[in-house]
Amino acid sequence: MRPSVIAIDGPAGSGKTVVGQRIAAALGYVYLDTGAFYRALTWLALARGIDPRDGPCLAALARQATIEIERAPGDAPPGYRVRVNGQDITAELASPAVAQAVSIVAAHPEVRAEMLPLQRQVARRGRVVMAGRDIGTVVVPDAGLKLYLDAPLPVRVARRVSQLRAMGQAVDPAAVAREMAERDRLDQARSVAPLRPAPDAIIIDTSTMTIEEEVARVLDIIAGLDP
Ligand code: C5P
Repeated sequence: MRPSVIAIDGPAGSGKTVVGQRIAAALGYVYLDTGAFYRALTWLALARGIDPRDGPCLAALARQATIEIERAPGDAPPGYRVRVNGQDITAELASPAVAQAVSIVAAHPEVRAEMLPLQRQVARRGRVVMAGRDIGTVVVPDAGLKLYLDAPLPVRVARRVSQLRAMGQAVDPAAVAREMAERDRLDQARSVAPLRPAPDAIIIDTSTMTIEEEVARVLDIIAGLDP
């Protein structure tokens, strides 16, 4: 039987989004990028002048805000649209300001406590591929398949630089490298739901694989799961 929830965790630029979207499309599942929740809240906090270090204030903001993520088939990357209180802010999610602050926002236990029910609600509906940092460890620890994608930092930076260029952004590769290294550090070091593979996750090093090879590998794993 196919797993109802496929959890894909890993650091930024490890291939979670593109592989997750293709796997979801191949299986007829929904794809949910949980990083978009944290990025949306970060955007709103910055727009309202709220300090990314102020956990209680951010949690209150998350309680009041409506964050909606919907599929946008055929659109340019990231392939979905995000609305905050009805406003489409998809283009803002990849901005340097959001990228720099998001891991500070996401490290607050109060913020994560607000995000968890939203993400579990999607998991309960089933037939979903969920990508993030703590899906296999915290959000859906009983997911039928847990993958952890990884690649060395320079590989991930090169991918992110070409993604951002494809989205029409002017990019400084050195700045992207600094931001990703700092985000890795914060995501791995936080006390709640740090980035790490679940003990039963299948770890895939994507550094020398093409997207097609990654997708084929994951579909093979799914086909080989116990009936
Ligand atoms: O995947 P993406 O790069 O959009 O994630 C942005 C940030 O959101 C991560 O660096 C991390 O700080 C946070 N995040 C998280 N838990 C998740 C998904 C994302 O803490 N499940």
